[in-house]
Amino acid sequence: MPALVFATSNAHKTEEVAAILGSEWQVEDLRAHPGVTLDEETGDTFEANAIIKAVSGSRGVPGVLVLADDSGLEVDVLGGAPGVHSARYAGETANAADNRVKLKAELAKLPQSDPFTGRFHCCMVLARDGEVLHVTHGSVEGRLIVEEQGEGGFGYDPLFIPNGFGETFGILPAATKNQLSHRARALAAMRQQLTNFL
Ligand code: IMP
Repeated sequence: MPALVFATSNAHKTEEVAAILGSEWQVEDLRAHPGVTLDEETGDTFEANAIIKAVSGSRGVPGVLVLADDSGLEVDVLGGAPGVHSARYAGETANAADNRVKLKAELAKLPQSDPFTGRFHCCMVLARDGEVLHVTHGSVEGRLIVEEQGEGGFGYDPLFIPNGFGETFGILPAATKNQLSHRARALAAMRQQLTNFL
């Protein structure tokens, strides 16, 4: 079974990726490779940051395919924020709950007449031995609400209702999210290419 290292320590993301790739791939993440360090995400696009993570991660596991993603939430009325700053929207030491508090506070300042449209976006980069092999993108459109619904998923999931559904990613089953998420879409495009690099 081919192995793939997903350059993250976020167990939620790894679970999503392993579920989407299925049993044909042995997916590990950086919890299994504690010596691997990723360079700082200094890019100002999702793609630039995903490349930084994939390239630096792949140097730590020679000869192994390394996948990295960079993802986040873009809210139209906030000019695309939190965007590439999604993980640290409420500050350098912020956790997911802090970030949701900040987002709710920003949205609460605005007129509540029109829906707060936005999307999750994900860029996936495949690398090996410091070389970028392939880049894909995926997104899921939806709207933000100002009161959390559900406790499933992670990050901004309790505040995001994907188009075509009446409930947040915090309530919808993981299987539903895994079919339509930004990560699922970027990964589906990546999956088609993976075997070309074995
Ligand atoms: P990354 O780990 O640098 O890609 O940062 C992604 C950040 O965007 C996370 O910490 C979350 O705040 C947010 N995010 C990305 N994907 C999701 C998702 O599927 N649900 C909720 N929040 C997400």
